[in-house]
Amino acid sequence: MEIDFKKIESKWQKKWESKRIFEVKKSSKPKFYILEMFPYPSASGLHMGHAFNYVIGDIYARFKRMKGLNVLYPMGYDSLGLPAENAAIKVGIHPKKYTEHSINNFIKQQKSIGLSYDWSRRVKTSNPNYYKWDQWIFLKMYEKGLAYRKKAPVNWCPKCNTVLANEQVHDGKCEYHENTDVEIKQLEQWFFRITDYAEELDRDIDTLVKWPERARIMQKNWIGKSSGTEILFEINGKKWPIFTTRPDTIFGVTFMVISAQHPNLGDIVTEHQKIEVEKFLRKIKSTSEKDLEDLEKEGVFTGTYAKNPINGEEIPIWVGNFVVVDYGSGMVMAVPAHDFRDFDFAKKYNINIREVIKGGNIKEKAYVEEGSLINSGKFNKIKSEKAREEITKYLIKKKLGKKVIQYKLRDWLISRQRYWGTPIPIIYCNKCGIVPVPEKNLPIKLPDNVEFGKGNPLKTNLEFVNVKCPRCKGNAKRETDTMDTFVNSSWYFLRYCDPKNNKKIFDSKKVKYWMPIDQYIGGKEHTCMHLIYFRFYTKFLRDLGLLDLNEPTLNLFNQGMLKGINGEKMSKSKGNVILPEEVSKKYGIDAARFFLVSNSSPDKDFDWSEEGISGSSKFINKIMNYFDKVKIGKADARIESKINKAILGVEEDISDFRYNLAVIKLRELFEFLPLTTSKKVLENFLKLLHPFCPHITEELWQKIGNKTFLSLSKWPKADKKKIKELFEKQDLAINKLISDINQVLKLVKNKKNIYVYILPGDKAIYDVNLINKRFERKINLFLVNDKNKYDPSNISKKARLGRPAIYLE
Ligand SMILES: [Zn+2]
Ligand SMILES: [Zn+2]
Repeated sequence: MEIDFKKIESKWQKKWESKRIFEVKKSSKPKFYILEMFPYPSASGLHMGHAFNYVIGDIYARFKRMKGLNVLYPMGYDSLGLPAENAAIKVGIHPKKYTEHSINNFIKQQKSIGLSYDWSRRVKTSNPNYYKWDQWIFLKMYEKGLAYRKKAPVNWCPKCNTVLANEQVHDGKCEYHENTDVEIKQLEQWFFRITDYAEELDRDIDTLVKWPERARIMQKNWIGKSSGTEILFEINGKKWPIFTTRPDTIFGVTFMVISAQHPNLGDIVTEHQKIEVEKFLRKIKSTSEKDLEDLEKEGVFTGTYAKNPINGEEIPIWVGNFVVVDYGSGMVMAVPAHDFRDFDFAKKYNINIREVIKGGNIKEKAYVEEGSLINSGKFNKIKSEKAREEITKYLIKKKLGKKVIQYKLRDWLISRQRYWGTPIPIIYCNKCGIVPVPEKNLPIKLPDNVEFGKGNPLKTNLEFVNVKCPRCKGNAKRETDTMDTFVNSSWYFLRYCDPKNNKKIFDSKKVKYWMPIDQYIGGKEHTCMHLIYFRFYTKFLRDLGLLDLNEPTLNLFNQGMLKGINGEKMSKSKGNVILPEEVSKKYGIDAARFFLVSNSSPDKDFDWSEEGISGSSKFINKIMNYFDKVKIGKADARIESKINKAILGVEEDISDFRYNLAVIKLRELFEFLPLTTSKKVLENFLKLLHPFCPHITEELWQKIGNKTFLSLSKWPKADKKKIKELFEKQDLAINKLISDINQVLKLVKNKKNIYVYILPGDKAIYDVNLINKRFERKINLFLVNDKNKYDPSNISKKARLGRPAIYLE
């Protein structure tokens, strides 16, 4: 009989919702806060790849709930941001409407997957009651000097008409407009001084021992702490501080490179070189840090020289495309003999290469290791490490240098010239200058009535722009920049702890109970932005006295990616998107959930497969049929042993996110379920399967006579005394024997009789009744020392302990 999965699914989804069984409050139970990174809701909705994320979290949440923990498992929507605005413009719908529609669609889809969220805590960042607190945090940062405004070179997309973060620039093109070159503009922008926390952000990575190692290394590199020496080079009579980690190579400096985006570049370029430099600047593209490595290094001479403080040498200054403007002073000293990048550059432009550390062959490539100094005046023969100290000491004495710690991390540019973001709560007054909006006037709401397609839409609403100055009551103008959307996602996890608070950002007591996040789940692509920013915000709010923790989460899990059948990333344009609705219609959502975690460990990438989902579907159907037939009676010792062993194994596998191994154990266990067994055995089987297949297990739980929710039942406790190793050995050995016989039967056709010979030591393991019960064909079993055995070809000689001999005729 065809099973109506749809009916079962919606029945239980409705019951869970109407009884509010996943809503949580503070209780005496130990808490467990599990969270998936919240999605940005797009109109195209969720595909199976997104569903995979949430299923990973839901399995964990359901398991922890059954283990007796007070599980906070919320969901929300990162609903402000450029993509919503771009999409809205493209299809001509107001971003607010577009977002509302997308969110409702997401919720519907997520509910249909059976995710056990506490929906009462739902948060959406486009709600003024949410972004009010973004603004409040901004004001606090401003108060503490952590929010500031400065002129800065920025990546500008002429199509988006806005500034882009470095990370939104790929290969010189806009993330949203692949054909559009990103330009460099100098603009007044708002920044958060995240660099004030660079040292702590770097140091505390060491406490994140349960983060994937890869994520920890990436954050270390992103923050990029290095200690070195700042050396003052003289340029046009002015002193320029130049940072280096290798002061021991200072005698080998043969050129300097200034960033192409440097605001003072104009002062460096001589009249004579002006045209050359301008030509070069037009040619180069904006690049993000991660592209720098692969970039073809290019440059042009500025016409100016710097004076090397150690020996007075005149060194030519070049402008280059590979120096980041905010790193050090935006200029570096180049030592081609001892740096690969400088070496390539010097070769390309025929610049002098001077060896100052002995050890390599600098005709072929740069020598970057340690060694003794040469060509270095009075520092000759000193080893590099010591020379770094000596030269630094010498420069400090002469007031030409100092020791410094440098970070690659730069202040966070948060200004966006776009509409669909949190308005920055600042007013500009001709008399008073920059005036922060008083807290009592928050939130500064986004006006609905704006015009799109003419630069920053907020500028088109004059009622929004023109305000009275809060200080002098004179005419003033509002800031029309909005905040980077990463601001919204930097603290949302705290709001879930107290989502409806109108008076405060959150109640510290509630946050204290739920935080930190016990398990955070999300994609690898967030390692360097969101996951740095949310650590920064946590530390800042701690310093305001609102939190008593240093890190938002100690446990991070990066899920793998579900790809299309063709092994490619799912995307509409490739036509390989799998939708949960369609899968669900065909197989039921539990089969889909089961398949998603069957294939491989959930941190690995894998491909969607029709074979795979249909295999899972068959298994689910078998379970349904079994529960139609099974009779409740007594459990035998064998199944007791099996189920207790499975309880231990499945529990361990789920705890370690090895869902695929848990699935194998569940399949095996099911094969052994007898047609008559105890209610307890059936219940325990359903409990183990529940986190994976919540709907059918609730249904079967009810079918065998329970009136409670399986979702709220207790995870079974294994009775280790009931686990009998003999049974386990027998099952393993017999399965192996049966598969061996099947192998032989495949090779030699038309054989009727099967003879198996075992050593006396294997007698307890190979129980002939058990074998005949499991195997569709009858076998004849003999001990090798049985005088009456039938063994025409003397095959029994070949039997070994644990390896019976097989003869067919
Ligand atoms: Zn663009
Ligand atoms: Zn004023």
